[in-house]
Amino acid sequence: MLNNQNIVTLKLQKQCIETVLAMHEQRAGACLPEPYETEFWAYHQKKAANGFLNFYKLGSIVYLFFSIFIVCRNYFIIPSIYLQHDFWRSVVSIMNGGICLLILVLAARHPKAQTYFRYFALLVVGWAIFLTAVLTLSQYTSSLRQQFVFIIFIFIFGYIMIGVKPLHMFIVGLLASAAIFAMFFYLHISFDSVVLFRVFFGSNLIGFAITKVINHQERGSFLKTKLIEVDQEILKNYNNQLLKLSQYDGLTSIANRRSLDDALERYYALARAEHSPLAVLFIDIDYFKAYNDHYGHLQGDQVLKCIAQVIQHTIRHQDFVARYGGEEFVVLLPNSDVDQAYLVASRISRAVDELSIHHEKSEINPYITISVGLAVYTVEYPVSANQLLSFADQALYRAKACGRHQICRHVISDEDHDIESKQKAT
Ligand code: GH3
Ligand code: MG
Ligand code: MG
Repeated sequence: MLNNQNIVTLKLQKQCIETVLAMHEQRAGACLPEPYETEFWAYHQKKAANGFLNFYKLGSIVYLFFSIFIVCRNYFIIPSIYLQHDFWRSVVSIMNGGICLLILVLAARHPKAQTYFRYFALLVVGWAIFLTAVLTLSQYTSSLRQQFVFIIFIFIFGYIMIGVKPLHMFIVGLLASAAIFAMFFYLHISFDSVVLFRVFFGSNLIGFAITKVINHQERGSFLKTKLIEVDQEILKNYNNQLLKLSQYDGLTSIANRRSLDDALERYYALARAEHSPLAVLFIDIDYFKAYNDHYGHLQGDQVLKCIAQVIQHTIRHQDFVARYGGEEFVVLLPNSDVDQAYLVASRISRAVDELSIHHEKSEINPYITISVGLAVYTVEYPVSANQLLSFADQALYRAKACGRHQICRHVISDEDHDIESKQKAT
């Protein structure tokens, strides 16, 4: 039942996602309805953080070679009179880029910092834009000053790689640009304000536009991934349901005959390995056909359910009960000798009596009763699992023959053991 509800909920969820996906494909650039939009950003940021974790080794190597190349090249192109002033600026600028990347990797690695990854990332990118621009533009060597166009790459990196909302990156880009302008005014550094404005504002706008397009596609793949996940969940639920159907009895919800076969095999193997006793109870409702004939099958079904529950609640958690078929149940009691098994059988029988289900057509009692057959496997007389079950069944027939509403036991003797040995030999 719970599974069915799950499947209905999941199917509704799938329909919603399909509708959102159809809407998304028609409206380019639009946000998803809540809560999908929030979920999308969480997913997107996690993906960005994972990207850092997956590629940081390759990124570090590339950055290292790039740094060595730039530093060496700068050393040779800076005129000797500016060397002291310009060279360390280019080194600090390169080192700052490396440290920023390292901070991003550490933030992506640490589970606690990962929650705040986007804030770290925005701060780091803002700082990288600011410091790189200040250090580059304050150099005397004109060819080095030209390198400030690299700022465009930092903007693009910020927009594409760190997985933040374009608007947030846009604001950070503007703030960093404003800080750079303010700094230059304050330090009286001469700069071409038109070129600078074009680079900063242009990069910000290009980054913003590119991410809008990318995020539209990302939203689509996020919704498709969600659809696949829901489909898998539905399939898992169906599989669970099928497994349940194959293992449990539909009417009483206890284990069915198939599960009994598996359980008997397991319990028997354990008893043999541990040299411990294993008791089997065969339970049958008395005059149940007459009950059905008189009260109807539906009422009979209710009785079967009740008795299954009573047995289930009377036994220990390590014991096992299954509906063998019709109105017959089998209970397996590991580690239980004859006395203990007899005690459990009488407890079950008493519990059924206490239900006081009226049975006018019973020839022995005004209420529903049960008969129980009992057989116990012991190391002294090691019979097979099937034989053990059949002995319990035989004991049940005797209980019926002796007047019903009683417990009969099959005493396994040398004779039974001999039969078993002979069967094995043939
Ligand atoms: P006895 O005391 O000898 O066991 O007599 P009985 O009538 O219980 O035995 P019998 O095996 O002749 O009858 C079993 C009855 O159980 C027959 C059938 O009507 C009933 N039965 C079997 N399966 C179901 C079921 O799923 N639901 C209901 N309501 N009745 C069932
Ligand atoms: Mg019966
Ligand atoms: Mg029967």
